[in-house]
Amino acid sequence: MFRKPPSDLYPTEEKPGLRVRGGTRYTSSQGDYVCGGCGAEDHANGDDNVKALVEDYTANHGPAHRGGRQ
Ligand SMILES: [Zn+2]
Repeated sequence: MFRKPPSDLYPTEEKPGLRVRGGTRYTSSQGDYVCGGCGAEDHANGDDNVKALVEDYTANHGPAHRGGRQ
């Protein structure tokens, strides 16, 4: 029997968005997004990479598609 991870932790095409989980002393932080505007998706591990992913998403995807900025 396979245990699926809780689906609300991960963005999907049906539920686009940005998910970030902070790291602990033992794990690195993780980020994922699926853009509801253009369907792009990306994943990152580690504080610096997750920060870059969040900046990419907020600047180029998600809400940015509705802001009139192309
Ligand atoms: Zn997009």
